[in-house]
Amino acid sequence: MPLSEFDIIARFFSATPNRDDVVVGIGDDAAVVKVPDGHQVVVDMSAATEGVDFQPGDPAAALGHGLLARALTRLAARGAEPAWATLVLTLPSADETWLADFSRGLLSLAKTHGLQLIGGDTTRGPCTLILHSHGLMPAGQCTAGTARPGELLYVTGNLGDTALALLHLTGELQLPKREREQVLAQLRFPQPPVAAGIALRGLAGAAGPLTGGLADSVAALLLDSRCGATIHVEQLPVSAALHSMFDRAGGWSAALNSPEPCALCFTVPPERQVDLEQRFASNGLDCTWVGMIEAQTGVRCLLDDGSEL
Ligand code: ADP
Ligand code: MG
Repeated sequence: MPLSEFDIIARFFSATPNRDDVVVGIGDDAAVVKVPDGHQVVVDMSAATEGVDFQPGDPAAALGHGLLARALTRLAARGAEPAWATLVLTLPSADETWLADFSRGLLSLAKTHGLQLIGGDTTRGPCTLILHSHGLMPAGQCTAGTARPGELLYVTGNLGDTALALLHLTGELQLPKREREQVLAQLRFPQPPVAAGIALRGLAGAAGPLTGGLADSVAALLLDSRCGATIHVEQLPVSAALHSMFDRAGGWSAALNSPEPCALCFTVPPERQVDLEQRFASNGLDCTWVGMIEAQTGVRCLLDDGSEL
């Protein structure tokens, strides 16, 4: 007998944290949550369609993990901590192995960050995943302002491993076993910068994920601010794997263009630089200075010898 919607939820989607602020969760018609006094809700929506955003046969655990990891990264760019999510699953049929893997990927990351799945809907059709995620933050601490000339540009995490993983998967690059395992794990199970987002509250100017690679993502981040940036390419935090695979210019351009949807770039005024570095260090977090915000629009990528990449 095919699984009913109720069976699917009970078997695959009920292992979710129980938050005190959830009044009504999965199992009833509409969910009800409490927003703590003095807090704002940050809302994100993301959709992924088979054949477009992922391919049939892609590992389902990585799909579930990745869908939530990218959403939590966007919440982190606003300084929010994860709270609740709802999920719309459109599936051609109830494939139990796929459902078990997908829900494990999604719910284990949700558990790590104390996010409760509070509802959703399940329908039949071409495979499409829609996740609606909500985070909480103290009112007025949002990082999503604009950048100003003179601010410093930082990134979280390492850049370049996703580019390496994609080159490996398309067969354009042979990687030694250890590097291969490391970059594939980073591609499939990237960790969202939730703690970094919280550390940026009240400090960062503009902040956003590096979904399109650093150079393009900085350009997109600065669009509203009507300013530009110089990136000092040789400051970029790149993995040893990336360094060992390319010549100098090739390595830096891979790092600049590698899509890293779970890394953040952000700006901070110079007078807050010491605060920023202390906050990150005291929380055991990494961030790296990579450039400056300037009045001249556009993004310039400079090598240490002054030549432009
Ligand atoms: P029906 O379609 O039979 O009316 P509902 O759509 O109300 O059932 O779903 C039953 C319960 O399961 C609701 O609480 C709903 O929020 C939840 N639910 C349904 N699909 C999902 C899903 N994909 N993920 C999380 N919760 C879901
Ligand atoms: Mg339904």
